Amino acid sequence: MHNTNMPLTKDEIFPFLCHISEHFQSGIAIINIKKTDFPFVYCNEAFISLTGFSRDELIGNGISSLRGSITNEEMDAELLHLLSSKAPFEKNVLHYQKDGTAFWNHLTFQPIKERGGITTYALLHCKDITEQMLSKMLSKLEHEVYIELEKDGDLKNTLQLIAEKVERYYIRDIYCAIHIVKENRQLQAIASGSLPLRVIKALNHLEISLTANYNDNVIYINELTLTNHHYNKIIQGYNLSSCWSKPIYSNEKKLLGYISIYIKENHPLKNVDIEFLKKLSPIIALSMKYVEQKQELKRLAFFDKSTGLPNYYNFYNQLEKWVEDKNNGAILLVHPGEYSSIVDLYGRKFGDELIHQIVVRILSLANLKEKMIYVRFSNSSFIVAVKKSNKKLNNFINQILQVTTFPFRIADRDIFITLKIGISHFEENVTLDESIRRADIALTNSHFKNSTISFFKKETDEIIQRELNILNQLHFALQNEEFTVQLQPKIALSTGTIEGFEALARWNSPVLGNVSPSEFIAIAEKSRKINEIDISILKLVLNFLSSRLKNGQKIVPIAVNISPVHFYSESFVLDFISLVEEYEIPPEFIKIEITESAQLMDLDKAKEILSELKMLGYESSIDDFGVGFSSLSYLQQLPFSEIKIDRSFINNISNAEMHAVVQTIVQLAENLRMQVVAEGIETAEQFSILQKMGCKSGQGYYFFKPMSLEQAENLLDTI
Ligand code: C2E
Ligand code: MG
Ligand code: MG
Repeated sequence: MHNTNMPLTKDEIFPFLCHISEHFQSGIAIINIKKTDFPFVYCNEAFISLTGFSRDELIGNGISSLRGSITNEEMDAELLHLLSSKAPFEKNVLHYQKDGTAFWNHLTFQPIKERGGITTYALLHCKDITEQMLSKMLSKLEHEVYIELEKDGDLKNTLQLIAEKVERYYIRDIYCAIHIVKENRQLQAIASGSLPLRVIKALNHLEISLTANYNDNVIYINELTLTNHHYNKIIQGYNLSSCWSKPIYSNEKKLLGYISIYIKENHPLKNVDIEFLKKLSPIIALSMKYVEQKQELKRLAFFDKSTGLPNYYNFYNQLEKWVEDKNNGAILLVHPGEYSSIVDLYGRKFGDELIHQIVVRILSLANLKEKMIYVRFSNSSFIVAVKKSNKKLNNFINQILQVTTFPFRIADRDIFITLKIGISHFEENVTLDESIRRADIALTNSHFKNSTISFFKKETDEIIQRELNILNQLHFALQNEEFTVQLQPKIALSTGTIEGFEALARWNSPVLGNVSPSEFIAIAEKSRKINEIDISILKLVLNFLSSRLKNGQKIVPIAVNISPVHFYSESFVLDFISLVEEYEIPPEFIKIEITESAQLMDLDKAKEILSELKMLGYESSIDDFGVGFSSLSYLQQLPFSEIKIDRSFINNISNAEMHAVVQTIVQLAENLRMQVVAEGIETAEQFSILQKMGCKSGQGYYFFKPMSLEQAENLLDTI
């Protein structure tokens, strides 16, 4: 009898692995790792179709047979090194099919121990992740473009950056160039990766041969022929054999230029190439538009001059790079314990001053410049991210605590303060938002326990327990109709009149007490309960409107929040309009707010849904605008009628740089013919700044807090 707890012997293991692999839908190869060249000894059908090689061609050869013209040599050497270490790993590598088509291969390598602890075979699992890698590259490129625009706002430099990056990171060995259409309608070659501009100019004299193809807005020419001897001479030596060109249009369908890709091998254009160009061209169009319209936009990536802290995007970008480069380190959320008392006693200005002085002291600590980045996180706290291993981290924290040994000079007094620090480690498989959230939880814990420093601990995380409780109670909340709604007025800033309301979900759970939407919405999204919540709020709103309509009382439009998760679900539009129709509410009285999020990146789908709603008479707004930075270029393509600028922007609007950013957004929205609503107006100063800026609408505690339906009734009756 075979003992199931015993590892298989070498002879048993091979047929066993082959058998399992046959049933896999994704590519699997078995490697003999005892041999020095690590040959494939078996591959399943999916592996064969992924690589395009026949089984005979693969067996006996190793992973290097998937190498191609631009597989980085270091990458290949590293891969062989990893194989020889005989330990499990995961890695993304640029590989090639037999016909030379490149693809990003996500490899998972798993050696299999056999009886006696020896390892002969390993499984290599392969997955084509080209599309994800190209999307990632594009969003990174977009960030870089914004940063470049911020630096000098020069179009040529920005387009040059795009051409170079595309050449460098694209999956094929290509040359990239960008032409723009000048005012006299002539084409001008403005940027080129590594081909000299004179060569690009010569290429403009191309005869488009009969083999040119027109595919989905991309022109593809697979034989470059030139009739003019002079130009032919210039181009000779570059071995260019085909070319793709994609026109770049503005929103108004005006031709702005072309992006062209020149290729050495004669390679047919594939879907992934077309998709890539389709996504690249709006980035170029947007850069052109921005440079033309507003130099101010360059301030979108900025330093906050009043506190000397970099802006959040800068911080985020840098930190993302650290994590990508696999640096160890921690996020410290630092809060001066006496902040509130100082603000109460001497005013907000001195609160800022205190934060500033602490940061200056921390910055003066030796040898930190390279290893530290920081950002203002809220009025009363700032984040320091630091590249340090655990041991050195403790020293660093001690150093930070030392900065309070001497008093701070605040409002002409010497004041001693204490710090509270919440700490989390940043890790590759944890998002930055999550790491920051963890530091925040740790900071809360340190208040709770009245300790100076507090590390986030996964295992003892009360929050996780709370999430579970909430998840559990959500089920009953829906069943027992525990959700209620509050309405917050939206104000016309020029006249002070009420233009509408926003409906906000409220939950008073008999078990958990009041739970804030910012807490339960995210959990409901994760657990797919959000659709039901959105719908139950919508019903309450419709009921409110309908009973007022029936009584002949005044109504104003009410906006409901729809989670992106819900928004994309199959039945959303149908469920939504059937309900509104059931209550007989005219579409102009119900608006939809969707939070700007990565999910809005499914551009085609979002466009489809929004256009359908618009056709039916429903207006939609994009909520929390400005937080999802990379989607600026996408936004202009979506038929939103309104932008709601996120509260964090309004919060800091008295700062000159932030002022410029909001001003730009207001103007940008106007250009796109969208309404702008400023969220979270809390002070008269913010109100007056926004009014002067020409921002038409606003919401916030300064005017009204969210109120019960009865209060909203009374308010409506007075206008
Ligand atoms: P949101 O849609 O951006 O709503 C604005 C939030 O800011 C509300 O928080 C509101 O109470 C708060 N607020 C308004 N004015 C001020 C102000 O002057 N100062 C400050 N500090 N806050 C202000 P709330 O009610 O906690 O909701 C949080 C988020 O939860 C909402 O953000 C929205 O994204 C989501 N949410 C609320 N109800 C629903 C719902 O029915 N469905 C979905 N999917 N999401 C909802
Ligand atoms: Mg909203
Ligand atoms: Mg919002």
